[in-house]
Amino acid sequence: MSKVENLDKILDQFGPHLHDEPYGGWQADRVIDKVVPTHCPYCAVQCGMNLLVEKGHVVGFEPRYDFPVNEGKLCPKGVTAYLQAHHPDRLEYPLIKRNGMFERASWAEALDLVASKFVELQKKYGRDSLALYSGSSLTTEKTYVMGKFARVGLGTRYVDYNGGGGQQQGIRCRSRRKPLERHSARRGFVDRWGKCRGDLPDTQ
Ligand code: SF4
Repeated sequence: MSKVENLDKILDQFGPHLHDEPYGGWQADRVIDKVVPTHCPYCAVQCGMNLLVEKGHVVGFEPRYDFPVNEGKLCPKGVTAYLQAHHPDRLEYPLIKRNGMFERASWAEALDLVASKFVELQKKYGRDSLALYSGSSLTTEKTYVMGKFARVGLGTRYVDYNGGGGQQQGIRCRSRRKPLERHSARRGFVDRWGKCRGDLPDTQ
C-alpha cells in the first residue's frame, strides 16, 4: 500500500499520464490551418521551430531553416517539445495543498503564500536559508533578473541553475561555494550516451 495519501487521486489529477497523443491522435496527413514560428523552450540554445496548429491545437512541429542557430535541425529532445502544449500533466495555474489535496488557487493567493513563507523562513533561519534555483532555458536578461532577485530581493548567497559551463558560472553565487547542482542537458547526454549531444546526429 502506498505511503502517500490520496495517491490514486493525485495521479489521476496530475499524472504522469503516459502515452498521451496529440489532438486527433498520430496522423501523417493533417490539414494544418496555422503555422506559429517560435523557439524550442527546452534549453538555452533556443532553436527556431514552427508549431503546426490544427483547429486551435498544436499537433506537430517543423524545424526552422531560416533560423541561424539551428538551420533546420533540432536535437532528439527538441523534437518532442511541441507535445507539452496540450499535455494533461502541464501545470497551467497555481495549486495550494489543503488537507492532503491540491486545490486551484489564484495567482495573488499563491504569491502571498509563497512570500509569507519566505519571510517566515528567513526570520527563523536567516537570509541564506533560501536558495534560488533557476532554469537553463532562460534568456540572458531573465538570468540577470534572477540573480538580482536572489541577491537584492531575497538577500541570499545561494543562486544556481542547471545550465552548464560559462552560463552557470555567470549566475552562481559570489561566495565561491560549489554550485548547488551540476546537472545539465549536456551532462545528461554524456551520462546516457557517453557523448555530448553536439557529437550526436541531429534530427532534420
Ligand atoms: S538544442 Fe535541443 S533542446 Fe536545446 S533548444 Fe535546440 S532543439 Fe531544443
